[in-house]
Amino acid sequence: MADFDIKEDRDIEIPSSLPILPVRDVVIFPYMILPLFVGRDISIKAIEHAVESNKLILLVSQRDVNIETPAKEDLYTVGTVGTILRMLKLPDGRLKILVQGLSKAKVIKYTQTDPFYVGEIDKIIDQEQPKLTLEVEALMRNVKELVDKSLALGKSFLPDIIVLIENIEEPGRLADLVASNLGLKAEQAQELLEETDPILRLKKIGEILSHEVELLLVQQKIQSDVKGEIDKTQREYFLREQLKAIQKELGEIDEKTEEIMELRKKIDDAKMPDKVEKEAIKQINRLDKMHQDSAEAGTIRTYIDWLVELPWSKSTKDKLDIKLAKKVLDEDHYDLEKIKERILEYLGVRKLKDKMKGPILCFVGPPGVGKTSLGKSIARALGREFYRMSLGGMRDEAEIRGHRRTYVGAMPGRIIQGIKTVGKNNPVFMLDEVDKIGMDFRGDPASALLEVLDPEQNYSFADHYLGVPFDLSNVMFITTANQMDPIPSPLRDRMEVLYLSGYTSEEKVGIAKNYLIPKQLKEHGITGKNIKINDSALFQITTQYTLEAGVRNLERQIANLCRKVARKIAEGKDKKYNISSNNLSKYLGVPKFLPEEEIQKDEVGVSTGLAWTEAGGDIIYIEASIMKGKGGIRLTGQLGDIMQESAHAALSYIRSKSKSLGINNNMFSSNDIHIHVPAGAIQKDGPSAGITMATAIASAFTGRAVHKNVAMTGEVTLRGRVLPIGGLKEKALAAKRMGIKKVIIPKRNEKDLEDIPKYIKKDMQFIPVETMDEVLSNALKKPSRGKKGRKK
Ligand code: ADP
Repeated sequence: MADFDIKEDRDIEIPSSLPILPVRDVVIFPYMILPLFVGRDISIKAIEHAVESNKLILLVSQRDVNIETPAKEDLYTVGTVGTILRMLKLPDGRLKILVQGLSKAKVIKYTQTDPFYVGEIDKIIDQEQPKLTLEVEALMRNVKELVDKSLALGKSFLPDIIVLIENIEEPGRLADLVASNLGLKAEQAQELLEETDPILRLKKIGEILSHEVELLLVQQKIQSDVKGEIDKTQREYFLREQLKAIQKELGEIDEKTEEIMELRKKIDDAKMPDKVEKEAIKQINRLDKMHQDSAEAGTIRTYIDWLVELPWSKSTKDKLDIKLAKKVLDEDHYDLEKIKERILEYLGVRKLKDKMKGPILCFVGPPGVGKTSLGKSIARALGREFYRMSLGGMRDEAEIRGHRRTYVGAMPGRIIQGIKTVGKNNPVFMLDEVDKIGMDFRGDPASALLEVLDPEQNYSFADHYLGVPFDLSNVMFITTANQMDPIPSPLRDRMEVLYLSGYTSEEKVGIAKNYLIPKQLKEHGITGKNIKINDSALFQITTQYTLEAGVRNLERQIANLCRKVARKIAEGKDKKYNISSNNLSKYLGVPKFLPEEEIQKDEVGVSTGLAWTEAGGDIIYIEASIMKGKGGIRLTGQLGDIMQESAHAALSYIRSKSKSLGINNNMFSSNDIHIHVPAGAIQKDGPSAGITMATAIASAFTGRAVHKNVAMTGEVTLRGRVLPIGGLKEKALAAKRMGIKKVIIPKRNEKDLEDIPKYIKKDMQFIPVETMDEVLSNALKKPSRGKKGRKK
């Protein structure tokens, strides 16, 4: 770009008049050699003129680069006389020249302006060169050092120039040399050019240089700061990219990395507790190092999926409005006042105490009485999710707790599965059939369940598969059972039991009218305008088409009616269908259950008992008959152990009382007795048929008939005391169904009569008894005159 030739300017002869070449954006210093492109007419003319004469020309800078044809005033007066070393005409008409600065000069006046400028000029000579004083030397060294520094900071200088700068001993020339290579702004350069004191010039260039060095330093700092920032945020990225590249090189596919990144994001989103997150990240890191298709990777992937999908911190907000809860419960359920009341109390306490560690509710009652639907209503009232899981037949602890991951195809237990399904960590979680839970060599699901239900433990429920604790303390557990007895007692202790008994036919009709029919109409897309089921039909359904304590089959039969009507309407037979007991069989077919054949007359050896089964109360007939033999006893009709023992006790009692009953003692040793309970396919057990069996035996041996409209229930002891039994309401209902008028009950069950609806008690007599004697005197007919027991 620029070059220097060392020559003393003092020695150069300059003519007093020279053509003037205006230059833009550059200031030429003496000794500088540089190429110039010339396009303007006045410039070309001036050059041509100079080339033809002494090749000398005055180069002056323009004040404003934008002016195309500068007037005299637009040009600086001080410039540099240069000699044109070479000239080249370019094809486009421009000229390229190589000039070398010789000496500074000043235009005194313009003698010609057209076709190019010519001026009278005066050579400018620098002020007397000072001696190389200490100060000057220091100045020069300073400038040289600054040049070195800026060089180190990235400023570019031609290598030749560096050498020159190193060797120059003259302050003015050093200043010019540096100035012409710094790429200064034209104004700044012009100022330096006009300065005739070499020391001052050197000082100025020193200032400019140190400013430049500072600028370079700041620039470098900015650069390194930016770089540092990028480094921090992108370091990880670059590392991962590198890792990716390495994996790619190894033939491991890219999808995997993508998957890992996705999993990491999912972990972030799942907002897990720290401990769980750590575990998840640990597993991801393991997965990351594995081959994608390995079996182990599959296992880990499933595991991580489970972790990220569990609702660690997702929950619904409780509504806890008792009025609203009452409304919901009433909307969904007929009657059940006591139960509803208790549920509302439970919710009330919950409202006051945030995290209640109270008992678990347990609804006990026969199927179809609304246990599940109560649970659903509670969930609806609280605004929680509802999940139901049946424990029936569960034998394996792993079903609750899951299998350890080392098992092939291991899965979390059903509690965790349920939580994942609802997607919230505080659902109403219904555990159905706790009474049907089993136990065998595979562990004890009941004890695992205990942990689930225990508020002291369940905040960190340990599922074997998850391996990290899950907090179940916000879950509201409700259990259901058909019977209380089979529930393991530790489990029973945790629960507050609410009994739901079966419904009478009247109640069922009420439920059907108010709840089941509207529900089914809606489900079948018809309205009350299409169908009317009157009370007599409903009553008949409950007695002859269904045999149940609850209303499940009743609901099914109603659905059946709705379906049939909906079909007729769809077929175009649009009218109102009135269904009554007269035409019911047209829709539902012949009745499935005819009323149990009632005993037509008082018979010997047959007594009527009341039983309580899972499906509610029922009537059982117990038959006893004696035949020649050796004092043996035979029991048939699928009687369980307890019932068999009860039969033996009854027989022993009757034997011990033979005298007062008027039975000849030989009767027992010379006869066998056979006790049979019909409906033999059904397993029967329990002690509550004790007095019924004793009555049948007594009747058989005495020959006295049993009153046909007396039913009884109660346990008997060897000494003839009558002990209390359970399920009185169910049994009373069954008795009413069968049109029985007198029911013998244990004295100690008298208090339970309170729970039995008035209309049942209205035309039925309950006889509380304490001894077997009282039973027999109420149940057996008086002996016919003249006859004193049977003799054989
Ligand atoms: P469970 O769980 O006791 O076996 P469900 O809750 O499944 O019985 O009840 C069966 C059906 O009977 C459901 O449709 C339920 O709504 C209805 N139901 C039971 N009891 C009542 C009641 N008291 N009022 C209204 N509907 C009832």
